[in-house]
Amino acid sequence: MGGMLRIDGSMGEGGGQVVRSSLSLAALTGTPIRVENIRAGRRKPGLLRQHLTALTGAAVVCDAEVEGASLGSRAITFTPGPVRGGSHSFAVGTAGSATLVCQTVLPILLGASVASELTFEGGTHNPMAPPFDFFDQLFLPLLRRMGFSVHAELGRAGFYPAGGGRFSVTTEPAAALTPLELLQSVASPRVQACIVQARLPAHVAQRERDVILEALELAPEAVSVRKVRSPGPGNAVVAWVSDGDDVVELCTAFGERGRPAEIVAQDVVDQVRAYLAADPPVGEHLADQLLLPLVLGGGAFRTGPLSSHTRTNIEVIRMFLGESAIVVEEAGDDRCVRAPAGGLADGYG
Ligand code: AMP
Repeated sequence: MGGMLRIDGSMGEGGGQVVRSSLSLAALTGTPIRVENIRAGRRKPGLLRQHLTALTGAAVVCDAEVEGASLGSRAITFTPGPVRGGSHSFAVGTAGSATLVCQTVLPILLGASVASELTFEGGTHNPMAPPFDFFDQLFLPLLRRMGFSVHAELGRAGFYPAGGGRFSVTTEPAAALTPLELLQSVASPRVQACIVQARLPAHVAQRERDVILEALELAPEAVSVRKVRSPGPGNAVVAWVSDGDDVVELCTAFGERGRPAEIVAQDVVDQVRAYLAADPPVGEHLADQLLLPLVLGGGAFRTGPLSSHTRTNIEVIRMFLGESAIVVEEAGDDRCVRAPAGGLADGYG
């Protein structure tokens, strides 16, 4: 185990992702870390419930010693031990994103030599976070393509502000990994959508469906309405682009009080159009989230100009693994992001 790595939580994008990625990488590399200035520039600085749950969750799965694990904490110390599979539950306790907690804990367990059964509670459909559908339809299939054995199931949806969602994730020890390769343009894009809704009048979903059908010129069977169980009301419009059998992008907009259904649906329409108009196969959100899997198994993807989240996540990864862990090549607006094959996963399990 090396010396303590000090990380400035206000670096780059300066949000929760610096903390979450640092925790995953600390556990994966056996590196003790001190993170300071956590979310320093944010309206409510320090650890919110979601980040605190990610911290305690990461600590549970690698038997870490932790200092500073309290709400609002602006500095933490995390000294990881050995990774432990098994059954674990993580509850955010508010509508904070449970998928972000999962994306912290999951990389740690993906290469473990024992299986895990995980339950996450909190928000499953949050603005500014990957909705469960993004995680389940886009992110996890890419991990499976790399050879990881991981599956998720939604029990109950959790929307802001009531929360109370729940999903489970199972992992099994991975066989040999295949480097991820997402470089080709999307050859035959096909768009589908689903209006996810809980405890709201049926006309909301109908109006959203009508906008999507017309604006994206889709066949009626391409847009479904899914009523989900949830403790509180909620509405997410989810549209995804597939190429053959693979989902390559998933766009989401959220209904909220005072925001007309037509505007919510149009938001998703605009996102889908923007993705289809741009050539790179990997969209902005997927790009920052794929970086950790990429250093685990190696590979390359092509995306557009890097977001602040992606640039910051690359910086965090380089702090743990060195400059060559991620290489970015530029060609016009395109960015090819590469990690050497046989990456970090070689060293664990
Ligand atoms: P942070 O702002 O540091 O808490 O990180 C937010 C994370 O949520 C990043 O990984 C974003 O890419 C991701 N994210 C935000 N909005 C979406 C969205 N609509 N779909 C998928 N992921 C998202």
